[in-house]
Amino acid sequence: MIVVRTIEELRAARGKLGEVAFVPTMGAFHAGHIELMRQAGAKGSAVAVSLFVNPLQFAPTEDLSKYPRQEERDFSMAESAGVDLMFAPSPEVMVGHQETRIVAGKVAQLWEGAHRPGHFDGVATIVAKLFNMVQPQSAYFGLKDLQQCAVIRELVHDLNFPIELCFCETIREPDGLAMSSRNQYFNAEQRADVVAFPRALVQAVAAVKENPRNVSGAVTGAKRELEAAGFAVDYVAFVDSVTMQATDVVGPDTRIIGAVRKYGVRLIDNHSAA
Ligand code: AMP
Repeated sequence: MIVVRTIEELRAARGKLGEVAFVPTMGAFHAGHIELMRQAGAKGSAVAVSLFVNPLQFAPTEDLSKYPRQEERDFSMAESAGVDLMFAPSPEVMVGHQETRIVAGKVAQLWEGAHRPGHFDGVATIVAKLFNMVQPQSAYFGLKDLQQCAVIRELVHDLNFPIELCFCETIREPDGLAMSSRNQYFNAEQRADVVAFPRALVQAVAAVKENPRNVSGAVTGAKRELEAAGFAVDYVAFVDSVTMQATDVVGPDTRIIGAVRKYGVRLIDNHSAA
């Protein structure tokens, strides 16, 4: 695996590769990231990964400075996963001069966008820069960040990036908690407790399967249960996974999404409702 830190080095190394499948990340790798890298390599393309904790997607009040950074460990995990090219730029290289911003579309205003103003503009701006730098033929994102997938789908369509998008199902811990770099913030007791979050989402899906006409009842039930378990609930909703609009009719593209806070950590997750 070649590690590069500047755009010049990246362009030189990328030029020696043929088709490239690209996985953008913020590091602190877990099995979810590794699965994206594995799937990126499964069709025979070279695999490029970026590791950059994007300051544009964090609000001043958020956890940018405490976001886990463990670069050497990440590099060796990526190398073991068969990654060919690792781009790990400094903030100066990436956003040292950054006056231009991409404004993500309507899909970015809801849910995460409503709770994290500017977040998706920051994501879209950096992902567009990375696409221009890496020039991949395909790019891999995790459905764990469902709304991010919707924003990127629109970005690629609207700005005409010639890139095939692949969205990969969420990798979970054995008890059902979605793998996340932020899970490192919990101690063992807290970690065992927060599994109540994905369980509440799964239960709401089961409730809707039993009674498809009572989507709002299932949402209310999940929120009540989460609040009783000590979570602050930012939102729980059944949505269409392309438009991200709330729906009370469950179809093949419907997913339940949720965001909660407990122990000073914010968790997001989603499940297929079909
Ligand atoms: P991050 O480093 O958190 O920005 O994530 C990098 C990529 O990995 C994003 O496309 C995420 O959606 C994806 N990802 C994060 N967690 C998981 C997971 N548990 N399973 C699958 N993909 C994930």
